[in-house]
Amino acid sequence: MAVDIPLFQKIHRELQPYQSRLVAVSKTKPVEDIQAFYNAGQKMFGENYVQELVQKQPALPQDIQWHFIGHLQSNKVKYIAPFIKMIQSVDNLRLLKEINKQAAKQPRIIDCLLQMHVAKEETKFGLDENELMALLKETMSHPENFQHVRLCGLMGMATNTNDETIIRKEFRQIKELQEKIKNSFSDQFPYFEEISMGMSSDYKIALEEGSTLIRIGSLLFGSR
Ligand SMILES: *Cc1c(COP(=O)(O)O)cnc(C)c1O
Repeated sequence: MAVDIPLFQKIHRELQPYQSRLVAVSKTKPVEDIQAFYNAGQKMFGENYVQELVQKQPALPQDIQWHFIGHLQSNKVKYIAPFIKMIQSVDNLRLLKEINKQAAKQPRIIDCLLQMHVAKEETKFGLDENELMALLKETMSHPENFQHVRLCGLMGMATNTNDETIIRKEFRQIKELQEKIKNSFSDQFPYFEEISMGMSSDYKIALEEGSTLIRIGSLLFGSR
């Protein structure tokens, strides 16, 4: 299937008033489609599966900024550590420590978002507020253990529902937490600016609620 460049351009125009950026979610899609969006100006792509990402990455332009957005097992961090720009799906301390360890070996710094669980579905991954605060406390009390990760903000997914009120409420929750952390710990987390929320079905609501990174897959690449 040929990719829809006019639609891609339309989404970029929709983002402009919000100063939000697009992560094109290319999981399961061939390198040809990714290359086509790259040629049209897209630089940030999101992938969910380590094995798939490490196969695609060498075949595509090296200035692509790859964002990992899927559930990540600690033992697989080493495969993406040499090139990953941002890991959006950090949901436990052990994983963050492993990212730091693998980044230190390169050496480089890996941008990270902490994934929040705000949706009603139990199956979705992420931290609740207490877990988030505990993780942040740990990084603040042992900054020497986190020199190679940069905490850049929060990521989250809303409940899969048509009820806009629920979606809006969940996005607002993420935004409020991000602001709270940014304001309370600006010295410790000076880069805590990003709020990654909004997918094909709900990105317009996410923009209205303050998203800085929207993650769009099926709308751009076609259904999976
Ligand atoms: C697949 C995926 C997306 C993109 O979803 P679409 O509905 O295809 O836009 C966004 N975020 C995460 C975490 C995903 O796994």
